[in-house]
Amino acid sequence: MNNNFKMPVILIGNSFKYEIEATLKLFFHENRFAFSDDINEAAGDNYVIASVKNDSVISAQIMLNGELSSLEATLDIPVSDDKDTAEHELCRLIYRILSERTGIRPPWGLMTGIRPVKKFVELIRQDMSREQIYDKLSQKYEITPEKLDIGYITAENQLPILDRINSRAVSLYVSIPFCPTRCSYCSFVSHSMDSAVKLMPDYVRMLCRELEITAQIVKETNTEIDTVYFGGGTPTSISAEDLRTIMECVAENFDLAKIREYSVEAGRPDTITEEKLRVIKELGAQRISVNPQTLNDDVLRVIGRNHSGEDAIRAFELARKIGFTNINTDLIAGLPTETPESFRNTLDRITELDPESITVHTLTIKRAANLFEKAGENNNNPAAEMVSYSIDKLLANGYLPYYMYRQKNTVDNLENIGYSKKGFESFYNIFIMDETQTILGVGCAASTKLVYPDGKISRIHNYKFPYEYIRQFDTLMEKKKEAAECLKKISSLPLR
Ligand code: SF4
Repeated sequence: MNNNFKMPVILIGNSFKYEIEATLKLFFHENRFAFSDDINEAAGDNYVIASVKNDSVISAQIMLNGELSSLEATLDIPVSDDKDTAEHELCRLIYRILSERTGIRPPWGLMTGIRPVKKFVELIRQDMSREQIYDKLSQKYEITPEKLDIGYITAENQLPILDRINSRAVSLYVSIPFCPTRCSYCSFVSHSMDSAVKLMPDYVRMLCRELEITAQIVKETNTEIDTVYFGGGTPTSISAEDLRTIMECVAENFDLAKIREYSVEAGRPDTITEEKLRVIKELGAQRISVNPQTLNDDVLRVIGRNHSGEDAIRAFELARKIGFTNINTDLIAGLPTETPESFRNTLDRITELDPESITVHTLTIKRAANLFEKAGENNNNPAAEMVSYSIDKLLANGYLPYYMYRQKNTVDNLENIGYSKKGFESFYNIFIMDETQTILGVGCAASTKLVYPDGKISRIHNYKFPYEYIRQFDTLMEKKKEAAECLKKISSLPLR
């Protein structure tokens, strides 16, 4: 189907647009859909009709390349009494037809959403056995055995950490949204250093001001900082002096003696210098990331990176020499022109370096990425083979999966998995995915996630562009007053 074609999707007797769209995206991830309740829109060679009749009969009719397929089912409970089940079952009819007609079997089946492990955690907490959990999830979502295994093991590894969350603690995220150049697959908010350099003195000044204000809120509400995470962009894109200023500000304003984890995503090897690594170490960070994504030089060139695989290895070894004993490396399965063999070579070489954690992402192509223009080229992407290899290889080498998330528009609807050696799981990564802890975001493009004691989640998004962040700082700080309200409530929780 042409990428610009909007497939008509007719909803009769229901408004299950969101889940139906998510199901259709499993099969047509590059297409858009035109939703309507007008049956006359069902025309041409490709369309979907999803109907609910008499409050209990659901049906899906799908015209694909001029050939019609239909399925119908009668629900045990009327739709008006259980909308969630009706919605799920209607999606399941669509899934079955499309699976049959396209030959595509998404590894996570019908399970959409970005946090698959949450479901496993929930069921383990209900004291269900591994077998019962597999039965339940494979029946409901048609998840493949490989994904049931990896989901379950990940949940098992993160549960003891989730159970040890300090109820009165929050995490701090410091955003440095700059990079030397933009990678072709990037959809993050990241600004090139060339364009940002003029703004940098003001940016650092305002960021420190926001850190002071945030620290004041933490002090006044009698809460504690549990983890600190510097992310981006690439925090090491900025100069060693600027990095020192920001990290000193964190050290002066927050009680680092109590934190359990301090991470700096050094990120791209072409930004890592001995001076910056020494600043990071001296000012309290114990965990860093060195992120080659691949060690294949040809692929690095294709994705627009200015460093080689050897540069990444040198940066890793430099960090070791300086004394970092907790290093993560990020890889991506499915990068353009990467082959299963070159991915295996990368992963084998990285494993020999013996980092404490390895995160294997799968390529995601969002509309904001330059690579989106060429998205069709990913139709035969061997990412699934690479991901399967990484699961086998890393489990065999003593790495345990401890957090996982999925994103929209990921090749083959695959996942991103963080593996670590026992005892080196990143708390921050778990908390951000599980949504159990408040995260105070500071800096341009950061977002603050407030998790209230009753489970309500509220977000405050900082401005995306440095000039907006600098100019509208006072307006932003007004919005952040909500953080104080939430932290007051958190501080009244019983300590655990
Ligand atoms: S290093 Fe990361 S944030 Fe920076 S351009 Fe590349 S993908 Fe984007």
